[in-house]
Amino acid sequence: MKTGLITSDTYQNHNTGDGHPEKIDRVTVVIDNFKKLDNKNLIWKKPSKFNRSLLEITHNSDYINFVEKSFPEKGLSFLDGDTIVSPGSKDATLDAVGSIITAIDGVQNKDFKNAFCAVRPPGHHAEKNKAMGFCIYNNVAVGANYLINKYKLKKIAIIDFDVHHGNGTQDIFYDNEKVLYISTHQYPYYPGSGTNDEKGKHNNILNIPLPAGTTSEEYLNAYEFVLNKIKEFKPEFILLSAGFDAHKDDPLAQLQLESKDFYNITKRTLELSKQYCDGKVVSILEGGYDLQALQESTEMHVKALLEFN
Ligand SMILES: [Zn+2]
Repeated sequence: MKTGLITSDTYQNHNTGDGHPEKIDRVTVVIDNFKKLDNKNLIWKKPSKFNRSLLEITHNSDYINFVEKSFPEKGLSFLDGDTIVSPGSKDATLDAVGSIITAIDGVQNKDFKNAFCAVRPPGHHAEKNKAMGFCIYNNVAVGANYLINKYKLKKIAIIDFDVHHGNGTQDIFYDNEKVLYISTHQYPYYPGSGTNDEKGKHNNILNIPLPAGTTSEEYLNAYEFVLNKIKEFKPEFILLSAGFDAHKDDPLAQLQLESKDFYNITKRTLELSKQYCDGKVVSILEGGYDLQALQESTEMHVKALLEFN
């Protein structure tokens, strides 16, 4: 079996303006590196087109209309203080969502064992009816709802190791017992949510807030709580909100992970996934703003995905 790598060129036309940390080069350095590595077990796929009804399971129809009208004919348009779109953002946002759909279908059809989606814009801050934090549609949430609706799964776990709390994903699934959302994140920090007390209506949310300066060792110890919650929930499928901004070199946050730690946590997650869901794991890029750290960390992450085949 192989690992799927889902990406398209449309991210190159999602322009967020000069000096914005969520920039085009982020995905370019990731993709260029995988091209160079040229691993024969990596199956490259482009995102599929999908019906708008899939978005409507996750986001309000009014919000989707608002987003569709927000793409400017030229220049830039602001959806919130730091969420910016350009004319090319329309295709990029749809392809980011389409990537996780393609990845899920590929795993379910056994075209590959697991998959990584190299996309932008990211998604985990996008709420049902609100763009924020560089995120427009919540890619991973659309993926989880797709698994429920198309494949009739009843237990999906989302593990979000981005350094920021995924307020959007939590918002979307707060009262949905079919989805377990687990987040490790720097706290207190943007976006402000993500305390231990936010547990979901069905105890289906687990937040693991970590102080600035958290070391690799401390993080890896905390990750045991993630794995224990997975054991308790017994998911049929695992989605990863894979942000790499907990890296020590990341300019936006202050956790102290090293690139190899992303190999470690991916490997531990995959080993556990074998027990509950036959290793069915789809990962999608969220944050990560130091280009070198992002390139190394995604390589480590995908190395673990490939080894697990
Ligand atoms: Zn982040």
